[in-house]
Amino acid sequence: MEMGVGMGKNQTLICAPIMADTADQMVELMHKAKFKGADIVEVRLDHLKSLDPRPDIEVLIRQCPLPTLFTYRPTWEGGEYNGNENSRFEALQLAMELGADHIDIELKAAHEFMNFTRGNKPEKCKIIVSSHNYEYTPSAEELGNLVARIQAAGADIVKFATTAQDITDVARVFQITVHSQVPIIAMVMGERGLMSRILCPKFGGYLTFGTLEEGKVSAPGQPTIDELISLYNFRYIDTDTKVFGIIGKPVSHSKSPKLYNRAFKEDGINGVFVHLLVDDVNKFFDTYSSPDFSGFSCTIPHKEVALARCDEVDPVAKSIGAVNCLIRRLDGTLFGCNTDYVGAISSIEIGLQGSQNGATHIGSPLAGKLFVVIGAGGAGKALAYGAKEKGARVVIANRSYDRARDLAELVGGKALTLTELNNFHPETGMILANTTSIGMQPNIEETPISKEALRNYELVFDAIYTPKITRLLREAQEAGSKIVTGVEMFIGQAYEQYERFTGLPAPKQLFTDIMADY
Ligand code: NAP
Repeated sequence: MEMGVGMGKNQTLICAPIMADTADQMVELMHKAKFKGADIVEVRLDHLKSLDPRPDIEVLIRQCPLPTLFTYRPTWEGGEYNGNENSRFEALQLAMELGADHIDIELKAAHEFMNFTRGNKPEKCKIIVSSHNYEYTPSAEELGNLVARIQAAGADIVKFATTAQDITDVARVFQITVHSQVPIIAMVMGERGLMSRILCPKFGGYLTFGTLEEGKVSAPGQPTIDELISLYNFRYIDTDTKVFGIIGKPVSHSKSPKLYNRAFKEDGINGVFVHLLVDDVNKFFDTYSSPDFSGFSCTIPHKEVALARCDEVDPVAKSIGAVNCLIRRLDGTLFGCNTDYVGAISSIEIGLQGSQNGATHIGSPLAGKLFVVIGAGGAGKALAYGAKEKGARVVIANRSYDRARDLAELVGGKALTLTELNNFHPETGMILANTTSIGMQPNIEETPISKEALRNYELVFDAIYTPKITRLLREAQEAGSKIVTGVEMFIGQAYEQYERFTGLPAPKQLFTDIMADY
């Protein structure tokens, strides 16, 4: 799956929607789009405060540094134009005559527009006939019929955009795209449809939309040009590109795509790593079962269900009861493992040993230590199992005492309530690991234990990574303890996942550098 020599640009264009009050402002944005790396601009005439057709369109075509697509979207199709159809058609026809490279006409108006122009169209101008569904994504059969109607309406390029109610809706759109006999733009709107915008070169889409700035979208779910080019390596995506991603809900905050996509590029791996907003894990894996969907990170709330879905689970992940990494094997089966525990435990070992690398020939520095875990959820279990594996004596403190007791029984340890934790100091030199969300943004003034109690701990770890230095870690430093952050755990679990995804050693310095910026 390595990127081939000379591999580079695919044929799929990045189109920047241009929306502004005046033609002059639009020209400014067009230059910005070119600078950012767009291939083409979509001039949204319906966003202009007023349109003086001939002079405005002339300026917009003559001064545009990129090929153009003119769209004059009426309110009845989700746009801003609410005037009469004749004026709209005249403006679009004028755009064709003055040298527009593409114009967009809605399927509902296509027949009327074709009669209006009576076939008079300059050779160079391509007509995109479009259809937008802002509610859902129809069945594959209905989409097939829609494409046939769009083609029959005289489209040079077919365009349809639907709305994702579930991420599996995107699969039907990929299926249509890959089998299309004519150039096609097929997008699924909304966060659940994001993959359709990034992976379209893999399936042969004519173009994707990339915005100039975050949030300045012409349709829900559009990424920025910068994200397409720099985060997702869009230019390198082709038919053979393997798809990786993080499944979760919510998921858009995840930094994983930043790490893996940069590493894929530097290692010459033909892969792309995307955010996957998944509601139903089983439905997701039933739909995306091809070997091209090669590996997945898994986050809240899917770690347990994902384990149940795997054909084989690593024994440690089985004991923890959660997987955060799934690999699709060549025979199509799914293998699940848990790299959270490796990431957390190895970063704590490194923290205890200073610059040395985790376990040494004399064994883990955790052996024999009293290891207190706050929390009994997914991360709590991972830390408790990891510490036990390394020979530590484990204590679990949790808000729900029953859960603390159940986990303590499983790892052969002791259970405490959170209140008892403040007066728990049977010995000095203990390790403390917070695995709850206490102290996480926005509640950054919260902490799970008093500052006084921290004096008994040689090292304090916090799984939270927003903020990097939580109040717990700040107070631990003040109390003289060593600290290990959730960012270090995050990087550690990512090393392991990368190696499982690619079979190559993780670029550790690169991951550390990327996370240092954050
Ligand atoms: P989880 O399975 O939902 O478990 C949450 C734990 O936090 C439970 O023990 C819960 O106690 C406790 N908790 C939640 N809110 C609390 C509150 N207000 N007061 C007291 N206890 C509270 O979640 P998880 O997957 O283990 O994740 C936990 C944390 O670890 C999150 O902050 C997550 O971001 C972080 N994490 C970091 C990484 C990394 O790479 N750095 C990896 C995984 C997770 P109850 O049992 O009483 O509900």
